[in-house]
Amino acid sequence: MRLQEKIFNAGVVGAGGAGFPAHIKAKSKVEFVLANGAECEPLIHKDYELMLHFPKEILSGFDLLIESTSAKKGYFGIKEKNTKAISAIGKLLNGKTELTKLGDFYPSGDEFELVYEATGRLIPPAGIPLDIGCVVNNVETLYNIALAEKNIPVTKKFICVAGAVKKPASFFVSVGTSLKDVLEFAGGTKVNEFGIFVGGVMMGHLTFNLNEVVTKTTAGIIVLPIDHYLIKRKNQPEQNWHRIGKSACDQCSYCTEFCPRYLLGYQVEPHKVMRSLGFTKTGTSVWNQMAELCCSCGLCTLYACPEDLYPKEACDKAKFEMREAGIKFIQQKEVKVHPIKDGRRVPLPQLIMKLKLQDYDVEAPFNSKELSVAKVRIPLQQHLGKSAQAIVKKGESVTKGQIIGKVPDGELGANIHSSISGKVKEVTAESISIEA
Ligand code: SF4
Ligand code: SF4
Repeated sequence: MRLQEKIFNAGVVGAGGAGFPAHIKAKSKVEFVLANGAECEPLIHKDYELMLHFPKEILSGFDLLIESTSAKKGYFGIKEKNTKAISAIGKLLNGKTELTKLGDFYPSGDEFELVYEATGRLIPPAGIPLDIGCVVNNVETLYNIALAEKNIPVTKKFICVAGAVKKPASFFVSVGTSLKDVLEFAGGTKVNEFGIFVGGVMMGHLTFNLNEVVTKTTAGIIVLPIDHYLIKRKNQPEQNWHRIGKSACDQCSYCTEFCPRYLLGYQVEPHKVMRSLGFTKTGTSVWNQMAELCCSCGLCTLYACPEDLYPKEACDKAKFEMREAGIKFIQQKEVKVHPIKDGRRVPLPQLIMKLKLQDYDVEAPFNSKELSVAKVRIPLQQHLGKSAQAIVKKGESVTKGQIIGKVPDGELGANIHSSISGKVKEVTAESISIEA
């Protein structure tokens, strides 16, 4: 069986981002394959720990992908400061692959940034790395590809739990494990009242629901006290973000001047989106083409704006509403890197200070003990594309690794497997619950 089929059967999706089905990348023909070990979200160290403890598996997945795509070269992106990971990975690299050492900036793990740093190529506006002969995979995706080659499906996720927990750590959990179980495994929380950023404080979402579950794309789980600056900022009603922005934005344009996509040469100008917001009634549609190419990195809202406004959220709103209205912006201007780009990069330690996270900036070492759980709730949509369809019924017995959700024929998506052995307790349009 070819690699792409094995990856499809194993349900491998991008573990570090939106969950792009990995078999699509494996069946492409490209010039360069890139491994993304940059990991730039504050407090998250799980890719670092994975590279330290599983370099052979990661490089096996990497080499398999280089072979299947007929790539002429590989680039492995790691932050220069992570010397132990560089040493673990570096000594296993073959002659076809070069290390790309990255600075400690946010967002150095962004695909557009990494491709440019490694190859000097710029992804076309609204394009993907494939458009310029590249595929990029997060290091955990490569680990999963190595397992898929051995017909082992994705049933577990490597996560980092940090912030106000007693034992910050990185460890494997079964897909579908509740946040409640995860936090207990990390020694419990240091505070009684808290919020949880799932996926990181910059690009993740805030939840207070301990029944939320770990999916194939969950990377970091950051617990912060309820009165922390970031929880207060994020936990405002959406209307407030936009109402405050309308009244207080003075068009200083710092949000644009620090925007990593703008600095790479894309037409993203959040201050202009804020201007449109100012000309609109709160709650009504915001259309501004300068939002279209925003990657929602959050730097404008959480770092650049001196008035603590919400330009990223204004861009999100504009993107959503333009999409709903069928309006699409195509950048005509040549993509040209801003001459001051290097001088405007945001060092991660500085971002951590700005976010008032310095007290939580500690290691999250690998815990090889696996968290075993008695029940899981496995979402059918953990990837880009169409939701998988359940192929098991309530009351059925399933074994760990068995396919329980399939992608409709010919659609983009990924198979879903049971992460524990047990009985199916419930099947809904969104998920399958299993108890051991
Ligand atoms: S979130 Fe802000 S800084 Fe990030 S890409 Fe979008 S506009 Fe630029
Ligand atoms: S940085 Fe803040 S105040 Fe300045 S233009 Fe952007 S949103 Fe407005």
